[in-house]
Amino acid sequence: MALNPQRTVDELKDLRARTGNADGAQRVAFTETWDTARAWLREKLEQLPVEIETDEAGNVWATLRGASDKELLIGGHMDSVPNGGWLDGCLNVLAGLEVLRRIASEGTPPVTVRLVDWADEEGARFGRSLFGSSAASGSMNPDDLRDLTDKQGIKLVDAIARYGLNLDTVKQSNKQLKNAKAYLELHIEQGPVLESMNLPLGVVLGTFGVERHGIRFTGQSAHAGSTPMNQRRDALGAAAKLALEIREIAKRHGGVCTVGSVVTKPGIVTAVVGQCDITLDQRHLNAESLAKMLQEAKDASERFAKEENVGVEWSRLWQIHPILFNQDLIEMADEAVRETAGTSHRLPSGPLHDAAEVARAGIPTVMLFVQSLRGLSHAKEEDTKEEHIAMSVEALDKLATKAMRWVAAQ
Ligand SMILES: [Zn+2]
Repeated sequence: MALNPQRTVDELKDLRARTGNADGAQRVAFTETWDTARAWLREKLEQLPVEIETDEAGNVWATLRGASDKELLIGGHMDSVPNGGWLDGCLNVLAGLEVLRRIASEGTPPVTVRLVDWADEEGARFGRSLFGSSAASGSMNPDDLRDLTDKQGIKLVDAIARYGLNLDTVKQSNKQLKNAKAYLELHIEQGPVLESMNLPLGVVLGTFGVERHGIRFTGQSAHAGSTPMNQRRDALGAAAKLALEIREIAKRHGGVCTVGSVVTKPGIVTAVVGQCDITLDQRHLNAESLAKMLQEAKDASERFAKEENVGVEWSRLWQIHPILFNQDLIEMADEAVRETAGTSHRLPSGPLHDAAEVARAGIPTVMLFVQSLRGLSHAKEEDTKEEHIAMSVEALDKLATKAMRWVAAQ
């Protein structure tokens, strides 16, 4: 049976009809609609000569035994954000399904091939993303999740218990990665880069490292009428200067920096701002450049604080190191994209993905991106040209063949 990329397009539409509505996809993890999507997937997997199991973290695995126990993994996530797009996550799984069909139709593959549907990649309900993959990779600390609740006040521990999952045992899913030698994931880009270059496909170099900080400038709140301009200690003045400076810092280093929140106190029209809290998010694929961007932002904040005669304090909200994908697999992915689309482009990923967790666990990993129209995602407007979806399935298939050969030769 030859690969049939059009079938993937048709299946994506079928899934959208079953699990979406006028507002978009509704496959939020640990809900009934998610169940519906997974049951639909299982029916398709059952038509293949694969073993299907659900691990301790709720990840679903379909295993096609090969001549060797060494494993090639292909992954994605069936869950979506509420009012999400029709491609985020499920394209990866359904493209993997089509590749699995093609490989299975040719008899016993040289290595074992497994498709994984990670549980709760989005973290949309409890605010904790990469649930299943971080449990399997070992990076999850279950205690961080114990008190999480959704908007209705339902605890995560109770929601996952309905699926037979227990935080004390989720990390046992790690044994699923024991024989894994390579991991592939196709994803929509969720950004505008490939579209702006007029390219259907790209190869992902890794995921950005992130520095996320809260910055507080403290001046003196004072009357807007009686305080002369040269006697003010305006906390917003310093914050505003920093908000502009981080754009220059990002440009200098080829990263991205964002001030996403500004809160002023007292926050009234007749008072100089006495306290200003801003957030800073900085991302780069290179750890050294990320560290430089952070240092330059800190230095700039001190300088502006001095100029405005205010104080400044930093507190780290969150941090993750850049995660680089495997060089050999990047080369293979580049070849597969060129064979499919003529031209390839290598780019970093801004968003995190399950692939980052797998790479963190030490398994050689690579991702393919397919163009997103208008760069939109996590919205019902999320879209990709059907011809590009078909090409992405073809490229993943070619990459899988190369990766199987590579794993077999190890
Ligand atoms: Zn996704």
